[in-house]
Amino acid sequence: MIRHLELKAYGKINLGLDVVRRREDGYHEVRMIMQTVRVYDAIELNRTEEEGIRLSTNLYYLPDNENNLGYRAAKLLMDEFGIRDGVEIKMKKFIPVAAGMAGGSSDAAAILFGVNKMFGLGLSKQELMERGVRLGADVPYCIMRGTALSEGIGEILTPLPPMPQCRVLIAKPAVSVSTKHVYESLNLPSLGAEAHPDIDAMRAAIEKKDLSGVVSQLGNVLETVTIPENPVIQTLKDKMMEMGADGSLMSGSGPTVFGLFTNQTAAQAAYEELRYGSSQDLAKQVYLTSFYNRKGHADGEQF
Ligand code: ATP
Repeated sequence: MIRHLELKAYGKINLGLDVVRRREDGYHEVRMIMQTVRVYDAIELNRTEEEGIRLSTNLYYLPDNENNLGYRAAKLLMDEFGIRDGVEIKMKKFIPVAAGMAGGSSDAAAILFGVNKMFGLGLSKQELMERGVRLGADVPYCIMRGTALSEGIGEILTPLPPMPQCRVLIAKPAVSVSTKHVYESLNLPSLGAEAHPDIDAMRAAIEKKDLSGVVSQLGNVLETVTIPENPVIQTLKDKMMEMGADGSLMSGSGPTVFGLFTNQTAAQAAYEELRYGSSQDLAKQVYLTSFYNRKGHADGEQF
């Protein structure tokens, strides 16, 4: 019997994010190129004899009840399978919160994976993804991970070949952004063609393993809303470019900014500048990381 599991819930960035249209029901249809990065929340699961779910996190402002997506993930499977034992979830957050990196969705994905394994439920990855979408549109992707095209409201996924590696600098400024507000403020009819990234061209570049092609296609239509409201995002993008990034973009609805660097020395210097240097006030959390790829990992790989 499995009594203890340690899981890594990786965050994501969007190499491309386009909004195609607003549906009658208010949801937005998107086309996004998703990429997992090696910044993760550390999640510990312990099986307990006492019934129920107990969750704790290292951040005082995060919910430890049903409002936490990780809690809801455990509950979904435990209710469905009538599990009588309990589970204790310890969550250590490193992925910036409410930042466009799908932290909550990734926690939910890892916990679905972990509860399935711990209690021997026998669900396939596909079956976990079908349940995950009830928790949030990005959850199925966080189960799949790697490089993928995401369409519909985020639930239609096409796995893509792994991205060529480079250094990925991630910086989260000290501003808060509401995803709901950003989507509601997006004025699609007023935008020119240049505001929309060419997702098909980016997909073609990824399939050709052409990193500079990907860099030339980086684009996020939500920048048209988030950047004018939070100029620090543009400042961060400019700083990364000035320090030798091949390209730089806002992830999701923001405010996290990432820079892609083929020059490792430049990436390290830019990291140090944002973390400890004269630009340290621009960002609250800074990580120098790399892409996480599915390549070489068998289906059902340990999270
Ligand atoms: P996305 O990239 O999908 O837009 P995000 O980065 O904007 O995600 P999250 O960090 O996933 O957003 O969480 C946003 C809100 O959800 C937070 O304000 C928080 O209160 C709530 N939340 C619930 N569960 C979690 C969790 N496990 N981790 C982080 N936030 C959570």
